[in-house]
Amino acid sequence: MRSWLLAVVAFCSACPASHRYPQLIRLEASPPPVTVFRDVRVFTALTDTALEHQDVRVEGGTIVSLAPTGADLGGARVIEGSGKTLVPGFVDFHVHLTGSPAPPWAVAWPDEAHNARAMLAVGITSAMDVGGELDRLEKLDKAQRDPAWLGPRFWYSGQIVSLRGGYPTSMVKILFPWPASALADKRFAGPIDHPLEARAAVDWRLHRGAHHIKLAIASVPLDAQTMPAELVRATVERAHQKGVKAVAHVDTAVHALRAVRAGVDALMHGIHLGALTAEEAQELKASGVVVSPTLVVFDRAEKLLEFRFVPTDVERRLYPESFLVPFSPEVNRQQTLDPQLLEWLGKLRADRDARLAAVKTLYDAGVPILAGSDGAGSIGCLVGGAFLDELRLLVEAGVPPAAVLKGATVLPARFIVGERADFGTIEPGKRADLVLLDGDPLADITATSRAVHVMKGGVLVEAVDP
Ligand SMILES: [Zn+2]
Repeated sequence: MRSWLLAVVAFCSACPASHRYPQLIRLEASPPPVTVFRDVRVFTALTDTALEHQDVRVEGGTIVSLAPTGADLGGARVIEGSGKTLVPGFVDFHVHLTGSPAPPWAVAWPDEAHNARAMLAVGITSAMDVGGELDRLEKLDKAQRDPAWLGPRFWYSGQIVSLRGGYPTSMVKILFPWPASALADKRFAGPIDHPLEARAAVDWRLHRGAHHIKLAIASVPLDAQTMPAELVRATVERAHQKGVKAVAHVDTAVHALRAVRAGVDALMHGIHLGALTAEEAQELKASGVVVSPTLVVFDRAEKLLEFRFVPTDVERRLYPESFLVPFSPEVNRQQTLDPQLLEWLGKLRADRDARLAAVKTLYDAGVPILAGSDGAGSIGCLVGGAFLDELRLLVEAGVPPAAVLKGATVLPARFIVGERADFGTIEPGKRADLVLLDGDPLADITATSRAVHVMKGGVLVEAVDP
């Protein structure tokens, strides 16, 4: 074969693939003026317990009352809730609407519309986007203002403020073949290497509609340079001057402390490399920071490393077969990964117990634990399914189910829009963002995977047959 032909073949094997994604959902055509969820167990997210046998009344897009069952239903649409639990619509604290969870050996074009639909299909009615291309996010932001938008309400940061050459650029380079690496780098990295650039980076994002600032203080691969304290401070100070919060991707306790000492408001990915001491947890608690462990990111990476990745039932419903096949052990086994990546994955696997223990240590220290999935932002973090799996993993780490549910509703809602958030709880006057679950998630967290109905702003989200 001629060399130019070889080059073309090599180029095309590294080109992103397109898939035919299922429609999954639609919004009900004409919602009735009043809906009552009758005789239902309600987890309001205001306390750690549920209220039994309640009638929850929704008028227009708003929850107007909850009361012991038996009130007059006159003319209302009635949704029977017996044996089921009504929870606030889920808030995924860590998504990438403009990303794709495909593995590097089967790169796929991101499908933003499908990402959004998959979230809403499982009950994620609000989401915080923590890294993506501003051009695309601005377009999506316009789209979400349309009442017909099939996705969660979301807030975005734009590209991640990162040390030039450091993470995520350093990872993208070893993870994806060119040109996929160049595409991913442009989408996710926003390199700086001077405090003045940090300020300009913040201003630019806010000018483009960003709601918060995301920065990265992490080493992938393990010898990658990390953002020095001076740059972290410059970025966070500028964000705070402008009245927005700063969230940081961290990996170790050292980097987590660097972040909070500069005033970072949320730590993404918890302490996932190395250990966290009780004293360090106390310092994090005293700083007022919240932590989103995203355990599912590392769980999925380990499963791929050990050729035992199996999509959940929910994920099989959400994704086409063509997308899932590359994850199968048969295909996975044939891949060779970059040695630096393997080294990082090996360390992740070795630190699994320490990672779960760190979540419990943080919880015991009183640090708020928020549920984030890294949906479409990390390999195998299939949108929607990864979020539900994260809830299960947080319970496995030792966080009580009620605290996990608060971390998936009220806590991120208040972080995102403030103490007076109009979503994230079930109480009169709040938005009717609701999920009716089959079973009791306080007794069995996997009930969160069994949404019978999803309501967003008073409108039911209907499943569409594939
Ligand atoms: Zn992420």
